Amino acid sequence: MPLKSAIDRDVLNVVHRLQDASFETYIVGGAVRDIFLGIKPKDYDIATAATPEQVKSLFRRNARIIGRRFRLVHYSIGHKIFEISTFRREPSEEEKLVEVKGKLRPNENTFGTAEEDAWRRDFTVNAIFYDPVREKISDFTGMGEKDLKDGIVRTIGEPAKRFAEDPVRILRALKLAGQYGFTIEGGTLAALSSARQTIRSASVSRLSLEFEKILKNQNSAKIMKAFMEHGFMEFFLPGIYREFRMDKSKEELFLGVLGDWNLRISHGAYRASVSIALSAVCAPFLTGILGLDDPDSPLLPRWQVEPEMVSKIRSLVHPYSFPRRLVAVSREILMLQPLLLKRGRNAHIVRHSRFHHARELFEILNKALWKDASIEGKWR
Ligand code: ATP
Ligand code: MG
Repeated sequence: MPLKSAIDRDVLNVVHRLQDASFETYIVGGAVRDIFLGIKPKDYDIATAATPEQVKSLFRRNARIIGRRFRLVHYSIGHKIFEISTFRREPSEEEKLVEVKGKLRPNENTFGTAEEDAWRRDFTVNAIFYDPVREKISDFTGMGEKDLKDGIVRTIGEPAKRFAEDPVRILRALKLAGQYGFTIEGGTLAALSSARQTIRSASVSRLSLEFEKILKNQNSAKIMKAFMEHGFMEFFLPGIYREFRMDKSKEELFLGVLGDWNLRISHGAYRASVSIALSAVCAPFLTGILGLDDPDSPLLPRWQVEPEMVSKIRSLVHPYSFPRRLVAVSREILMLQPLLLKRGRNAHIVRHSRFHHARELFEILNKALWKDASIEGKWR
């Protein structure tokens, strides 16, 4: 039984307020999963009987209705943002498509009951509803709690159908398996293996968001390892997969760099910055361009290095796109690496706005590439 005390007070307040206004409300998704597993949730998804408009009018200024296709409310308090979504049900045949700005689109806003909402979710372990006020669990599929205890990823309903409906679920299944070391149930695994390549037909913007979430995840190395073991890199990250085919040793370097970064974050030594993660993902394939393979090689001028580096990054993460600012910071972090390796301590570098981020990547690269004890503390 998850402990009420494990739940963020602000989340409890949100649930309370919705319930006091007579709307059935639960905590759902990853937060419930994490609480059950004894992990502190990093964000919360809340599901309620209130419509987005009703949620908005209850919370007023702090609430914003977002999403064009799937409308939900972002409730913000301080730096925290909670996603509050209305229970959905499967649309009927006539409701399946709606006209948006003259175009027919899938209708994702047919509201329903909590139970109907649970059955629309992807995996049994993601469909456990928890009411923290009554301290009551509703496991509508009847399998969620047991699968979570046994560490099993199982689609709700017929696996091939669920992956065909939404190929992003393939990625989500592998993410769960990698992140928690869960086993993928036989039928789910068979369907996933034959549907792997359909990930290419999923929306690039949705996949970009999932990719960004993986980068933020403290188990990103384990997730990437699961992608590699299940032959998913070829379809999800074809640019990186090509690099692995050309040079097998890059696989170990790639997982090593990410794994070390994950470890340092879990120890609280490093910040969980997505821009460092993005540069860490690309760095193993840029060592030649940046002149990082040999500390004694000459330092090349920026104008010579940067264009080649930028086009390489683009091909590595193709077809995904990230917020412009995030990419700009990652580029700076990477461009500082040869300076940190080859220059002595100087004010110009230390005062650079990205110096601290760059130093963290530098120490991670040292562990994987140069293995020089004097380098770890060089810029501290
Ligand atoms: P994380 O810890 O990474 O946030 P999560 O499972 O909470 O993991 P979200 O993307 O926040 O992932 O989604 C919240 C919940 O919404 C999921 O747990 C699942 O129940 C449901 N969900 C998300 N994506 C899908 C999908 N593609 N198909 C069906 N249900 C989904
Ligand atoms: Mg979530």
